[in-house]
Amino acid sequence: MSETPFRARAEIDLAALRANVRAVRARAPRAEVMAVVKSDAYGHGAVPCARAALRAGATWLGTATPGEALALRAAGFDGRLMCWLWTPGAPWREALDADIDVSVSAQWALEEVVSAARDAGRPARVHLKGDTGLGRNGCQPADWIELVRAARKAEAEGALRVTGVWGHFACADEPGHPSIQAQLSVFRDMLAYAEKEGLDPEVRHHANSPAALTVPESHFDMVRTGIAMYGISPSPELGTPEDFGLRPVMTLKARLALVKRVPGGHGVSYGHHYVTEGQTTLGLVPVGYADGVPRHASGRGPVLVGGRWRTVAGRVAMDQFVVDLGGDSLAAGDEAVLFGPGDRGEPTAEDWARAADTIAYEIVTRIGVRVPRVHLGEDE
Ligand SMILES: *Cc1c(COP(=O)(O)O)cnc(C)c1O
Repeated sequence: MSETPFRARAEIDLAALRANVRAVRARAPRAEVMAVVKSDAYGHGAVPCARAALRAGATWLGTATPGEALALRAAGFDGRLMCWLWTPGAPWREALDADIDVSVSAQWALEEVVSAARDAGRPARVHLKGDTGLGRNGCQPADWIELVRAARKAEAEGALRVTGVWGHFACADEPGHPSIQAQLSVFRDMLAYAEKEGLDPEVRHHANSPAALTVPESHFDMVRTGIAMYGISPSPELGTPEDFGLRPVMTLKARLALVKRVPGGHGVSYGHHYVTEGQTTLGLVPVGYADGVPRHASGRGPVLVGGRWRTVAGRVAMDQFVVDLGGDSLAAGDEAVLFGPGDRGEPTAEDWARAADTIAYEIVTRIGVRVPRVHLGEDE
């Protein structure tokens, strides 16, 4: 571990990430694993995380935007790579030239990808997405016949190959939610229709992390896992990371910028929403909402400092917040651990999610670019 003094850093445990991928594979033994590395691998660093996931047996990489997928190709990843969030005029031709699998949910997208393929003189690799009930992206069942027929026609003309048929869950993180089986049933129907029309996808996929971990009949040919790979439970309701053999990958640390004695009755940080009860010591933690510490966790977020949990005193500011050290004698430079795996006494991203009324996905994904990621355990 580097001894370089730091303000703040996010340590990324790649050995844990690899073990998490293996834990997912053990839960979905017949399926391929797509490592979802969108949004810089949920804030963990896309390139090192993608590399670690592939080493641990993932066979696909997945991103939301074409820009993210193209960046991974440029970084030298040459295996199967898919991205799904397309807008009119997006770089279909670049994706095609880079051999990236693309997703199509509507006629406009099919037309754009076919046009790019004609220009390129080679077929595009296309995953048709059904809206099996999520009500977000994807083609409605009522429009599926038309989309499938148009795709089949384009395939016969050599403009594309339908390499995937897929969907996405709405409530897989709520155990036993009736929509889970309902969506699977719609998916099976949409798939059956596509196959009847002559499509022969390489991968049929519907499962995200919660479904990969808890709904075996949703695995089909591939599971798309993001949050599980980063060692976070998709929802506390479903279980703890340990319940699934997962270990959180990111540890967020900062070093105190100042420790000082203040008298009782002293207001702390903007708005003076915290006032010291008596004489005490305050510690200044040099990270704020610009670094992804949620301002909504003002007065609530937990931090391990000097062996004890402290609570954010008053408001989180853009670059810093304060903790009341209750007279403990600590010094500038001492470590403050905002969250980590939790087994060294520190809070977890889940604890921060609770403090900020959000989900742990958002806590890790929003850690800002000003916080360097330090990747540990790259070698087996
Ligand atoms: C983000 C995303 C995933 C991964 O979800 P997790 O719950 O993090 O595993 C899978 N599929 C799609 C379409 C996504 O957008």
